[in-house]
Amino acid sequence: YQAKSGGGSVGWYDSARDAASTNQLALLAELRAALAVDDQLVLALQPAVDLKTGDATGVEALIRWKHPRRGPLAPGEFISVIESSDLLAPFTQYVIDRALATAADWALNGLLVPISVNVSARSLLDPRLPADVAELLRRHQVPAHRLVLEITETVMMSELAVIDEVLAGLRATGVQLAVDDFGTGFSSMTLLTRVPVDELKVDREFVAGMVDSPEAAAIVRTTVDLARELGLRVVAEGVETADQRAALTALGCTSAQGYHFFRPMPPEKVLGVLRALRDNAQARIVPLRADG
Ligand code: C2E
Ligand code: MG
Ligand code: MG
Ligand code: MG
Repeated sequence: YQAKSGGGSVGWYDSARDAASTNQLALLAELRAALAVDDQLVLALQPAVDLKTGDATGVEALIRWKHPRRGPLAPGEFISVIESSDLLAPFTQYVIDRALATAADWALNGLLVPISVNVSARSLLDPRLPADVAELLRRHQVPAHRLVLEITETVMMSELAVIDEVLAGLRATGVQLAVDDFGTGFSSMTLLTRVPVDELKVDREFVAGMVDSPEAAAIVRTTVDLARELGLRVVAEGVETADQRAALTALGCTSAQGYHFFRPMPPEKVLGVLRALRDNAQARIVPLRADG
């Protein structure tokens, strides 16, 4: 190996790497503590809406860390640290537990809306995951079909044998499976032939490009058509503008999520939003009928 960076900066490089790993170790210790306390790791919740009726089709749970000193941290700043540690299983359980508690509360209020949780592909290497999920569903008395596990396809193709087994176990619990960021992995199509899934989420990169780029628009259209052909739900992610919304509606996309509709919000706000969406959707049925 020959160092290519100028100035023979090997010493500098090493100390930077040491600093980075020291920081990771600190983060990990703090995460371990945060998982034990009540209010540092919180869910931000983002509804997805039906493009025809405006009603909520589901709500996605997105983890946030209210770090006492570092300030609020987005998942991109700490998920990878969790993924390479022994905290992954407890963390995944923590998020599903919180999500199910929230969904149980909605159900008490008459709102039977599915909740979606992101599951690291690395969690699919854990053979205990299906039993853990089943136990959490039992504890919260939430029907399995009201929990959607979002999986990012890219990493799913490695270690296929174990992953196939865990996915089969999850399916057996009755939870729904969604492919997150669909179209960004290398093997989306192969994946669909191996694992029965319920939902495709169109990556926001393609949604962002679809108004100006014929290529992005073609990818979105193809994904919507594929979902229709296979009888899957399709949700467009990262919808930010009315133009994107109109383009998605024109392609026959049924459901959308993004800042144009709602930013991720604290759990205590969601119940009111879900009620309002349902009431508006029901009110809309009347004038439609009156117009014939
Ligand atoms: P994702 O599952 O694809 O989630 C969508 C991301 O896009 C979220 O970022 C969300 O806040 C953001 N977003 C939503 N609408 C818009 C929009 O209109 N425009 C733009 N620019 N962004 C939008 P976030 O919360 O930072 O999460 C990033 C990723 O971290 C997620 O991507 C997911 O892969 C992962 N993640 C989040 N929560 C969890 C978790 O509890 N467990 C695991 N394992 N991963 C998580
Ligand atoms: Mg997601
Ligand atoms: Mg996504
Ligand atoms: Mg993403």
